[in-house]
Amino acid sequence: MPTVNAYAARSATSPLGPITIQRRELGPRDVLIEIKFCGICHSDIHTVRGEWGETTYPLAPGHEIAGIVTQVGPGVTKHAVGDRVGVGCMVDACGDCAPCRKGEEQHCLKGMVGTYGAIGRDGQVTQGGYSTHIVVTEDFVLKIPEGIALDAAAPLLCAGITTYSPLRRWGAGPGKKVAIVGMGGLGHMGVKFARAMGAEVTVLSQSLSKKEDGLRLGAHHYYATKDPETFQKLAGTFDLIVNTVSAKIDLNAYLSLLALDGALVNVGAPAEPLSVNVFSLFMPRRVFTGSLIGGIPQTQEMLDFCAKHHIGADIEVIPASKINDAYERVLSSDVRYRFVIDAATLK
Ligand code: NAP
Ligand code: ZN
Repeated sequence: MPTVNAYAARSATSPLGPITIQRRELGPRDVLIEIKFCGICHSDIHTVRGEWGETTYPLAPGHEIAGIVTQVGPGVTKHAVGDRVGVGCMVDACGDCAPCRKGEEQHCLKGMVGTYGAIGRDGQVTQGGYSTHIVVTEDFVLKIPEGIALDAAAPLLCAGITTYSPLRRWGAGPGKKVAIVGMGGLGHMGVKFARAMGAEVTVLSQSLSKKEDGLRLGAHHYYATKDPETFQKLAGTFDLIVNTVSAKIDLNAYLSLLALDGALVNVGAPAEPLSVNVFSLFMPRRVFTGSLIGGIPQTQEMLDFCAKHHIGADIEVIPASKINDAYERVLSSDVRYRFVIDAATLK
């Protein structure tokens, strides 16, 4: 089995450090990818710190992977050596259940296989993209269109699809007022997509410190949520709110900003439960729902949309030795707007 360099957490409380991990032998429909870049998602932090439940250590996180195909199994038809490719949050699913057949593999009835911390085809715990190479079955490998740089493409594989999917599902477009809560990795992609889809876009951030950036990325309006006047001024305004916040927030305050039949989609995934007052849902009638990444066909659609609209993530490329510092900066909302690891520094 190929041994490759990686960066991993050895416990919930220790910093990440260098390690070697095993990748499985190339199967008939497997693709070997030389990873060039991997984004740091807040989910990596929730997971390695055990905030979502038990984690198996050592764990190399990373599910925003961009790289180049260096080898393919004999049965591979979708990808060829030299292709620019990406891998997101899933590396496998049954392929046979109703959601899989609809291209909603993230909702596979047998459970999709996460890119890290799940049990893969070889029976081993999957290890993610903070590493130099990965082996993935071809159906879970996406094509990164020419015209999007690999470093700016990496975050599209999670932050991109996670915001693109609910914006499409809930009809962001001309005539729609859309608010994005949280200007972090997911939020900044949500702003770009909602704008490109033709919606009127508002950012709801804790403060105005990133206002200039938000407007540059495409927002029409930008408000600070620590200012109580924001909630009075914007009451009943939005058709759609996408909440990307990684911590517990007062959902009822945000629900009050929805118009009749407006929807608040939660994609942020704090460890603590959030509470909803039912009156917030029927005075007037409103929708509260969630969204989990997106299926493989829609992820490819999103990448092609990005190429067409010249969209990539705003990134800060870092060497592996800065991963722990980057985690601290993400936790203090000091990310502009995605850290991306240069995999060459893992060698
Ligand atoms: P991030 O880069 O850290 O962005 C989160 C943003 O939330 C921050 O930039 C900050 O924005 C805001 N925020 C943070 N703490 C806050 C607090 N206490 N109160 C109010 N606002 C706060 O994280 P991310 O990578 O975008 O991920 C965001 C969340 O989505 C995480 O929980 C992650 O696990 C989850 N996620 C879910 C899915 C899914 O499929 N549903 C996929 C990927 C990630 P401001 O500074 O603008 O206020
Ligand atoms: Zn993620």
